Formats: sequence, structure tokens, C-alpha cells
Amino acid sequence: MAERIHGIEPGKQPSAREHLALALGHSPPSTQTLEHHRREHRVAILQPFTPIHTRHAEVARFKNVLAKIAALTSLAGGIGDRMVRNMGTLGGSLAHNDPVADYPAAVLGLNATVNTNKRKIAADDFFQGMFETALQTGEIIVSVSFPVPKRAAYIKFKNPTSRYAIVGVLAAETGNGVRVAVTGAASSVFRVPEMEKALAAKWSPDSVAGISVPAGTLNSDLHASAEYRSHLITVMARRAVEAAK
Ligand SMILES: Cc1cc2nc3c(=O)[nH]c(=O)nc-3n(C[C@H](O)[C@H](O)[C@H](O)COP(=O)(O)OP(=O)(O)OC[C@H]3O[C@@H](n4cnc5c(N)ncnc54)[C@H](O)[C@@H]3O)c2cc1C
Repeated sequence: MAERIHGIEPGKQPSAREHLALALGHSPPSTQTLEHHRREHRVAILQPFTPIHTRHAEVARFKNVLAKIAALTSLAGGIGDRMVRNMGTLGGSLAHNDPVADYPAAVLGLNATVNTNKRKIAADDFFQGMFETALQTGEIIVSVSFPVPKRAAYIKFKNPTSRYAIVGVLAAETGNGVRVAVTGAASSVFRVPEMEKALAAKWSPDSVAGISVPAGTLNSDLHASAEYRSHLITVMARRAVEAAK
């Protein structure tokens, strides 16, 4: 499915909630859609208005618009190989909700909103289990709104062949608190409240170094045992916190 991204820059008002919306579709959004974004998210539209596709390679390349969410561009740049990045899309990845995919960690960790042709779905409600989402039959993702975090980074321990996440962790300090989202380790992306609490008290790699997710809740397969995944979650979380200066 071909998709496009529309760069929308955060507004200048001190009270503005900073958002970047990745709008998917074959053509640029209508004036009404842009006006709706401006009103709702109090965002200014980047000029000149430049739509690009939201294939992974293009999200990775669109660094100037997404500079405030470097965690997102670096995540997109680390998906698969060059061919996969030039074919795979943000909407397809989210709708598929592969337990080892990277984008679910960005959406959950950055507290994004998935906007469909029918409604807005908060990240915490979107991912519902292995290959399962809140999308209903005929419901299409038309855009994803990412609030700009104070700091965020995504680090993954990748499968050397496919580059899917054996474990990937996105750690973010957002306007609504700290979020830690883990992909690759269980049947679906999940948050780690204990790490979030510790990081809210003190943003330091040491804050998460002693916190682990029990192996009993994690996947075990030929790539990694549940115990190894548990260990990797702590290590990747530490590195993500370190990287998110
Ligand atoms: C070899 C290989 C390596 C890969 N490595 C990685 C990796 O490292 N990390 C990673 O995250 N992913 C990886 N992927 C997955 C890849 O990046 C794609 O995102 C994934 O295959 C889905 O393909 P697609 O984006 O073209 O979506 P499609 O195949 O077009 O769609 C997938 C599903 O979503 C539905 N859909 C598509 N768009 C929408 C929309 N806007 N709204 C509602 N439903 C929609 C489709 O109907 C379909 O059911 C890899 C894939 C391959 C083949």
C-alpha cells in the first residue's frame, strides 16, 4: 500500500502540544485536514509543504522534518535491509502487528495516536495481542500522530538475518511521563511500568540496571530463550536510556 508522509512542524506557542503527524495516503491532505491538525494539535505546517511516502526508507531519510523525533528516524533506518525498507510501510507494519516488528515500540513508547478512517486509537489501546490490533474490518490507518518527546531512543538486539528485533526497547520521556516499550520479546509489544517509575525518579541507565522482566512471560524460540530475552530487555533498556540524552 503506497503511503505518503506530510511534515507538520510543532507550533511556536509556549502552550502548544508538540506533535508530528505522519499522514498516510495517495495524495496530500486537503486544506480542511491540515486546518483540523492545526486546530487540534496546534501545529504549524512546514512550508514548503512536501509530501513523501511513508515507506521505512523515506521516514529514515526525512530527517529535517522528524529531527525532533530522531528515535523514529533511526528506528525506521534499522528495519530489515535496503529492499525491505524501500517496500515496507508504517501503516502496514502497524496493522500487521508482528510481535518482532520495530514500529509498535515507537508508537507505544512515544504515546502516539493511530488515526483511522473511523476514529483515533490511543497507542495503549491499539496493540491487542500477537498479530492483533484494535482495527476493525474495513478500518484503514490514515495517519499516526507522534507527540514530540523530551528525549527518546530506540535500541534493538537484532536477528542478524532478518534484522527483526529479538528484543527492542524504546525509552522516552514524554510530556505525559516516562514510557518504556519493549518489542520482540513477547506475543505483542508491552510497557515496563517498573522501569518507567524508576526513570521518572531519575533518568539514568543505572535506574533500570537492576530491573528485569520475568522470563515466564516471554517468548522462547530458536533465536533466543525466554531467559536470554529477559536479560536483553534490561541491557537494551539501559542502552536506550544512555542514548536518549
Ligand atoms: C526479510 C524481511 C525483513 C524484515 N525485517 C523487519 C525488521 O527488521 N523490522 C520490522 O519492523 N519489520 C521488518 N519486516 C517487515 C516489513 O518492514 C513490513 O513492514 C511488513 O512486511 C509489512 O509489509 P507492508 O508494510 O508492505 O504492509 P502490507 O503487506 O501492505 O500490509 C500488511 C497488512 O496490513 C494491512 N494494511 C496495510 N496498510 C494499512 C493501513 N494503512 N491501514 C490498515 N491496514 C493496512 C494490509 O491489508 C495487510 O493485511 C521485514 C520483512 C521482511 C520480508
